[in-house]
Amino acid sequence: MHLHEVETIGRDALADLQVGALRATLERARRSPFYGRRLAEAGIGPQDIRTPGDIRKLPLTTKDDLRTEYPFGLVACPREELVRLHASSGTTGASTVVFHDRQDLDNWSDLVARCMYMVGMRPGDVFQNMTAYGLFTGGLGMHYGAERLGCLTVPAGPGNTQRQVKLIRDFSVTALHIIPSYALHFAGWLEREGIDPGDLTPRIALIGAEPHTGEARSRIESLLELKAYNSYGLSEMNGPGVAFECPEQQGMHLWEDAFLMEVVDPETLEPVPDGEPGELVLTTLQRRAMPILRYRTKDITRILPGECACGRTHRRIDRITGRSDDMFIIKGVNIYPMQIERVLLGIPEVGQNYLIILDREQDIDQLRVKVEIKAEHYRDDPAAMAVLHRRIIHRLRDELLVTPGLDLMPPRSLPEAQGKAQRVEDLRPR
Ligand code: AMP
Ligand code: ZN
Repeated sequence: MHLHEVETIGRDALADLQVGALRATLERARRSPFYGRRLAEAGIGPQDIRTPGDIRKLPLTTKDDLRTEYPFGLVACPREELVRLHASSGTTGASTVVFHDRQDLDNWSDLVARCMYMVGMRPGDVFQNMTAYGLFTGGLGMHYGAERLGCLTVPAGPGNTQRQVKLIRDFSVTALHIIPSYALHFAGWLEREGIDPGDLTPRIALIGAEPHTGEARSRIESLLELKAYNSYGLSEMNGPGVAFECPEQQGMHLWEDAFLMEVVDPETLEPVPDGEPGELVLTTLQRRAMPILRYRTKDITRILPGECACGRTHRRIDRITGRSDDMFIIKGVNIYPMQIERVLLGIPEVGQNYLIILDREQDIDQLRVKVEIKAEHYRDDPAAMAVLHRRIIHRLRDELLVTPGLDLMPPRSLPEAQGKAQRVEDLRPR
């Protein structure tokens, strides 16, 4: 593993590479039922792509398209060539799934290994992956990238901090993958246990999967005494390995040989100038089993103008500052308000109104739910309400995969739902 020559490719050569890859992507995509229809309707084929800007002739793809086409509508190869699937977080009902063939997994591992190499990981490093395995892409995605690079990889998974520390000590772990909210929790735990992070061996942390501020990163770096690098990805574009910080820590290089990037105004869908915030739209350039064209990520960011001091020519995006839909991310898990509503309204004791409160503590987003209880079930006594409280918490956790704060409220104590109710109170500082 080394710095791949494509990382410093000239912009003209990159454009040529993108045009070739985009044509091949269209050729494959139209073998899928969904894009077969879409591209025929639009009357667009590979021959219409002459510059990377011709991407704008193609139709956009949304998460709703992926849901409607669930499970196989975007698959562009024979079923028996598929070797892996991942699904975006969010459990019931509104699932989306992404499939890979063997070559896709190889390419993905290469991209992740490239990111790791970029921030200074080398064969011989010991890598502890402290995020969830399973359908979530941060587990297996980072895992195979680290193995590809040549690191001894510890598939620790999340939680159980005491065991995490034992693994770090026993195997002299030098690099971690950890979501920012858990990194802060982890640092607090070390402090309470009187463990000096300077005595632990990790010198690099890869942090991502959820929005976090520059301040949160600085705090993680100083509390854990290491360097922390922002990692951006989404299941639809593999997962980790889409955009990643280099040692300059001035924005994330988006790998433009693998993904074609646009930043558009989320209302007009017209491109915004470099430096201006907008919604990131991505097209896979290497994906074989399931190419995705012009995917609306709903993530708000901007292209950072100018060249990076590291010498890589792939353009950088800024930290993700928000979403253009109502999704929020708690402990790395994607959550839509509708999921919470569905759970609450399925519980007979729950009354008319509820409120979802988003706040930020220690630079990390927190979720609290307030829900009215019907008069006949409400007692002004926490002990009497404990069983119901626990039941609602369990239901929410089963659906959301994280445990929110929960307050049971007397009837008619929350804002009345009139017309389009304001169900989310966002107290997060802008
Ligand atoms: P999933 O497909 O479940 O992995 O979720 C992908 C979403 O997580 C992205 O669309 C972003 O909203 C969010 N995300 C991933 N990485 C980051 C990051 N480094 N900073 C902010 N948000 C992120
Ligand atoms: Zn750089």
